Amino acid sequence: MNAPKTPPVHVPMSQFPVRDGELLVGGIPLTRLAARVGSTPFYAYDRQLLSERVRELKSALPAAIKLHYAIKANPMPALVGHMAGIVDGLDVASGGELTVALDSGMSPKDISFAGPGKRIEELRQAVAAGVLINVESPAELDALAGIAADTGWTPRIALRVNPDFELKSSGMRMGGGPKQFGIDAETIPEVIARAESQGLVIEGFHLFAGSQNLQAESIIEAQRKCFDLAGELAKHASHPIRSLNLGGGLGIPYFPGNQRVDLAPIGANLAQIAEEAKTRFPQAELCIELGRYLVGEAGLYVCRVLDRKLSRGQVFLVTDGGLHHHLSASGNFGQVIRKNYPVAIGNRMDATTLEAANVVGPLCTPLDILGDRMMLPPAQVGDLVVVYQSGAYGATASPQRFLGHPAVAEVLV
Ligand SMILES: *Cc1c(COP(=O)(O)O)cnc(C)c1O
Repeated sequence: MNAPKTPPVHVPMSQFPVRDGELLVGGIPLTRLAARVGSTPFYAYDRQLLSERVRELKSALPAAIKLHYAIKANPMPALVGHMAGIVDGLDVASGGELTVALDSGMSPKDISFAGPGKRIEELRQAVAAGVLINVESPAELDALAGIAADTGWTPRIALRVNPDFELKSSGMRMGGGPKQFGIDAETIPEVIARAESQGLVIEGFHLFAGSQNLQAESIIEAQRKCFDLAGELAKHASHPIRSLNLGGGLGIPYFPGNQRVDLAPIGANLAQIAEEAKTRFPQAELCIELGRYLVGEAGLYVCRVLDRKLSRGQVFLVTDGGLHHHLSASGNFGQVIRKNYPVAIGNRMDATTLEAANVVGPLCTPLDILGDRMMLPPAQVGDLVVVYQSGAYGATASPQRFLGHPAVAEVLV
């Protein structure tokens, strides 16, 4: 009888299959993909994994809740183009991202633009494009009234609300208390009055409480509170609410012991909200917006071992990749205590022996760590180190100019 097939301990994640000891990305063996890309390091994103994640999520959500992709998680144009074909809308956070979103072919009516400190040029760009602008302050509202007066174009406006509660168990909090994001909930009535006195129509509300949350109960609680708050705020508007963005916050597992988000109760809660919305906001389209959850697990960061060193009994694998391409895996993008992302030697997936090794980058700083004393197959110069869970907040969330090494390549397969 065959022994049950459990993956070896050094295969930390299962979304990418293994054949003949090599990881397959989009069906291509990793060493061949590296040759095809032409250089290391690179990020590789798998279309099929992206599509599967969206399909899984859509089947858990009620049809009345639209799914938007927040492209700051990964704005690679080819990837945004792929996502545009499978999600219901795109959310952008700058004029540069707006350009990428418009180029993807997504209809402007399904693009929204949030973020504090929008420059006047960005606001003009957004008004001209006809996307929904999530207004973050009274001054931004006045700027839009000015653009409307100058151009005769009607800005599409929603108010981003800084709620009076926080998202519990969230990796990064972005609402509640004093914040640079959104307009404090208690001042929304006067901001609506100010908008209406300038002839502007408020289409809806945007609430985004936080990021990287693995607890279904706290996501449910935040979505319920956001919905109820929007119901209260809507009473102050003279026009019916047409759009309600309930935020997102769903996280992905990075570290041992992390449990996947349980989608079923979140879907059930949103179904209840969608049902209530039929009477409370009969004209509104409801959506959630997700970045990391949609793309994070579909991406790998791949770098090559340049040197293998011993220092006082410890092995150091020095690679051509590091924090300049992948700040978050180095632990320097919002982590309080550094933990290892899942790492493997992508061309030695069937190894039977392991050793303790440190995986480091080429930068002259002790912060440049990709793996701290991890159990890995013994790796040699030329081998390919892979970092899993690297599809979100990678290339564009890293200080690529630091130390003047080449920029990272990206490939969608
Ligand atoms: C960053 C951001 C998102 C995406 O957050 P994830 O944690 O990646 O899902 C969504 N909406 C807004 C307004 C954001 O700023």
